[in-house]
Amino acid sequence: MADTKEYDVIVVGSGAGGATVARETALRGRRVLLLERGGRFGWLGNTLTVAMSLQRFGMVQSREGYSVTFGDTYGGLSLLSAGCAVPPPQAVFGPCGIDLSSEAAEAAREMRVQVLPDELIGRANLRLLEAAVDAGYGWRRMENFIDPERCVPDCGDCMLGCRRGAKFTARQFGDEAAAAGADVLLHTTVREVIVEGGRVAGVRGSRLGVPASFRGGTVVLSGGVSNVHILRRAGIERAGRGFCCDWLQFVGGIVPGISTARANPMTVGTLEHYEADGIALLPVFPNWSMFAVVAFFTGLRHLLKIPRFWSYSGIMVKVRDETAGELYRGTSFSKPVTERDRKRLDKGVGIIRSILKKAGARDDSIVALKPSGAHPSATCRIGDVVDVNLETEIRGLYCCDASVFPSSLGLPVVWTAVSLGKRLAAHLDRRLGGVTRSGARSR
Ligand SMILES: Cc1cc2nc3c(=O)[nH]c(=O)nc-3n(C[C@H](O)[C@H](O)[C@H](O)COP(=O)(O)OP(=O)(O)OC[C@H]3O[C@@H](n4cnc5c(N)ncnc54)[C@H](O)[C@@H]3O)c2cc1C
Repeated sequence: MADTKEYDVIVVGSGAGGATVARETALRGRRVLLLERGGRFGWLGNTLTVAMSLQRFGMVQSREGYSVTFGDTYGGLSLLSAGCAVPPPQAVFGPCGIDLSSEAAEAAREMRVQVLPDELIGRANLRLLEAAVDAGYGWRRMENFIDPERCVPDCGDCMLGCRRGAKFTARQFGDEAAAAGADVLLHTTVREVIVEGGRVAGVRGSRLGVPASFRGGTVVLSGGVSNVHILRRAGIERAGRGFCCDWLQFVGGIVPGISTARANPMTVGTLEHYEADGIALLPVFPNWSMFAVVAFFTGLRHLLKIPRFWSYSGIMVKVRDETAGELYRGTSFSKPVTERDRKRLDKGVGIIRSILKKAGARDDSIVALKPSGAHPSATCRIGDVVDVNLETEIRGLYCCDASVFPSSLGLPVVWTAVSLGKRLAAHLDRRLGGVTRSGARSR
């Protein structure tokens, strides 16, 4: 199927970065096409949601045996986020000469970024916060992109897809793009870009299994790690050499009188170790079925803990990992935990142990799960694969999602990806100029 319509902007991938570009450019009156390979799986709030939202049902591992999650649904990984909001870090973007503060401020209003009331943070999280402060750490209530009017206490299902619609996800921006006139096609996988005379002219792939192509003079790749394969097919071979995933480790312990099993995750925590050590500490633990899967793969020692799962309280250490490894064909990739990554994780695990013990956990109840990655990023880095305007060496071909991060964020990603989407949309507006779809001048 060859669509004869000519679009101003074609966006590939509806995650936080892509959905934002589609929404912003559609609101400016451009002819926009948003293509997403996943569907609108709507049975939210259970383990099946997670499996259906991830590439190969989440069963993707590095050659070194570590699991890293890749999104495969309308809205991308934002559907599974815990809703924790951290603004774009100056430490990462400042050195590239990029200031995202005005875009971040606008995004915060639209995503409803705020600190939740204590009733929604919950007793277990507040107890961990108290223990951390007693142990001498600077814990605080964290900001979230969660609507307190819709959120309920002691739910904790954010990372299973929020069935109450309380959490911001990129689906909201995708739907708003459609309402503003964008064509949004799900179950459509882009395989390659069409290049004519050194500039991009559209994309090719398949829709519902049937070959399809679409024409447009500006193409924005927001397909996460898929960007790498599309760019390589276009001759940009260095994409995907080295990448980041913000290694994380879940640490759980049995604290008498509380359990974070049903607590709203990442509503308290600390970034006090971020600047010096690249470490963030935030209370969150996998749900029972994910814990069972991890336990199964990590041996009898952890399997025996399953019956006591509902007594656990969990805290995660997330680190700024080194750019390392490589993406290969298909879903094959290498991503080692480097010596520096290991040191950072160990330091975080040590701090968490001391907090859990301060809260009353016995040392022998504390378990640290294997490192894993939930933030694939930095595969098409600014300054390497794209320039500061996120454009590749092929004119009119851009990337906009976590893949363009110049290095690891080591922090929640959504607010930054949305801010980058807004910045790119403003750039495209200047670049495209002129008259819009409706005949009005662009704003
Ligand atoms: C369990 C979990 C919890 C998290 N918690 C938080 C949190 O609390 N706060 C936070 O800020 N961040 C959190 N994150 C991270 C955050 O959700 C993601 O890093 C972020 O949403 C990534 O956005 P992105 O724009 O890079 O694209 P992605 O979400 O990776 O989206 C890419 C999209 O492109 C589509 N696609 C891929 N290839 C193609 C193709 N060839 N053709 C068409 N479509 C394609 C995919 O299906 C997907 O929809 C969490 C992540 C996970 C997994």
